[in-house]
Amino acid sequence: MTHPTDLNQVLFDRASKVIPGGVNSPVRAFRAVGGTPRFISRAQGAYIWDANGQRYTDYIGSWGPMILGHGHPAVVEAVQKAVLEGFSYGAPTEREVELAEAILKIMPSMDMVRLVSSGTEAAMSTIRLARGATGRSKLIKFEGCYHGHADALLVKAGSGLATFGNPTSSGVPPEVVQHTVVLEYNNIEQLEEAFAIQGHEIACLMMEPICGNMNFVRASVPFVKRCRELCTQYGALLVFDEVMTGFRVALGGAQSVYAKDIPGFEPDMTVMGKVIGGGMPLAAFGAKRAVMQHLAPLGTVYQAGTLSGNPVATACGLATLAEISKPGFYDELGRKTRALISGLSQAAAAEGVAFCGDSEGGMMGFYLLPELPQTYSQVMKTEGAKFNQLFHGLLDRGVYIAPALYEAGFVSNAHTDADIAATVAAAQDVFKSLSTQ
Ligand SMILES: *Cc1c(COP(=O)(O)O)cnc(C)c1O
Repeated sequence: MTHPTDLNQVLFDRASKVIPGGVNSPVRAFRAVGGTPRFISRAQGAYIWDANGQRYTDYIGSWGPMILGHGHPAVVEAVQKAVLEGFSYGAPTEREVELAEAILKIMPSMDMVRLVSSGTEAAMSTIRLARGATGRSKLIKFEGCYHGHADALLVKAGSGLATFGNPTSSGVPPEVVQHTVVLEYNNIEQLEEAFAIQGHEIACLMMEPICGNMNFVRASVPFVKRCRELCTQYGALLVFDEVMTGFRVALGGAQSVYAKDIPGFEPDMTVMGKVIGGGMPLAAFGAKRAVMQHLAPLGTVYQAGTLSGNPVATACGLATLAEISKPGFYDELGRKTRALISGLSQAAAAEGVAFCGDSEGGMMGFYLLPELPQTYSQVMKTEGAKFNQLFHGLLDRGVYIAPALYEAGFVSNAHTDADIAATVAAAQDVFKSLSTQ
């Protein structure tokens, strides 16, 4: 990989001189798996090409947004048209209203949304709004869930339920996370205890309903049900962070999936991002009117953004939503994603490699473990070295999956059955080498 004609390496060396770690978001650096990150020069449909001109079947999809694959013609056309009309005005536009209306039609748990530019911003603003609306300071989050990098959310569990969490990043003063209570995912007993101790001080409980930042861990139905009941009982707001799952696991997001098992289920607040921007910087958060009216300029909770509701990003988001709203879209996407996971399971079984996987809609995850984990500590039992071999084995065979074992994967509707079959064949080849060691 250090050959002077490896253009990825040439670019990475150049990048490392001017950008910390050579990347603008840490996981891109391949630190967990080793090797040189691929510098992507273009993408089309299910494929991306690196600086050497090498093609890969893409199961990252920009970490979720590219649900239609890259360069979908209807989306490209909408963006090109929008660009000609102007990049940004800092004034309201009709397209923002259209996108807000489209989101609310798809997710009826909300009456109003505010558009922002990143999932981090949406989650951070949601917490401020939840605190402002309830007049309370504390929030609950779960170990292993990621909600962007706002200070109050960069925290891991402390020593006890009533104690403060500890920052997971330097630069975050301990005082800043003293109102964040960190609990174990899928642990109902701990949840009940935490509410019993401080339920009346909790502004909100924020969760990834299907946790893609632990690769793919579902919140159990009884756990979600208990989260809902306790929030209602104590007057805390239940926040579904659907930045990854929204418009991805189903058109109506994970909340529509849980509503099938829990009649009438709705979160109080929803955080969105990734797919709603279709690859452009766009995210949102929303709730019922009673909560959203606390937001400036209606209320006293301040929140703003120079590029919020950007006219090019909203054009991209609207065109993407129009495509995914077509009848049968998620049936087909779900079928392909399940075919990939079952093909990989069979290939691993044939080679005697411990493997398990799960998917919902176009989101998937797998582990080199005999059974699906339920908590962060179980996820972390995966053998990193084996995953790294799988990762590089696939990469060498033209298959691009997330370069870290705790990240979910994504299938787009541009992936064909032939792409999936080729990926399964490549994986079987790699599993063979894993089992003969
Ligand atoms: C990606 C992600 C975020 C952060 O979004 P950014 O746009 O990267 O800031 C927040 N929550 C979840 C669940 C995510 O997957």
